Amino acid sequence: MQFKTSVMPKKKRIALIAHDNMKQELMEWSLLHRHQLENHELFATGTTGHMLETELSIPITKLISGPLGGDQQIGAMLPEKKIDLIIFFWDPFEPMPHDPDVKALLRVAAVWNVAVACNRSSADFLLSSPLMSAEHSYRIPDYDSYLAERLKKPS
Ligand code: PGA
Repeated sequence: MQFKTSVMPKKKRIALIAHDNMKQELMEWSLLHRHQLENHELFATGTTGHMLETELSIPITKLISGPLGGDQQIGAMLPEKKIDLIIFFWDPFEPMPHDPDVKALLRVAAVWNVAVACNRSSADFLLSSPLMSAEHSYRIPDYDSYLAERLKKPS
């Protein structure tokens, strides 16, 4: 695989997601960091987004609810470089009917080198990074060379 450099803007596009048992924790965390979060562009799965908008009184682009495909919607934004970071408070104790979607989201995030915080502590580290307030160059797959290689292979 060959890679190239992409630049994420100063104002980050952050996706926020919380499973039901973790929603309260995400609300608390977001309220604590409201002043920082409002400097960025926020996206969220449906229920999380509605709750966050009420809690924080800041606009949030709300996608569809996670179990109805919202995690996949966020996943589809990653190769298009429309999301820079994911804060996903997932529930480690309860299996979800949409666990395959969650796994798919985390896999695509790994492919596209998107930072993911899966718990409160990593969310704290992420948000306190100096990179949050700067343009940041990072490595992503070079799709053109990837495709050219694949087209060279005999079918
Ligand atoms: P929700 O989805 O914000 O609509 O609850 C989150 C999820 O469970 O993936």
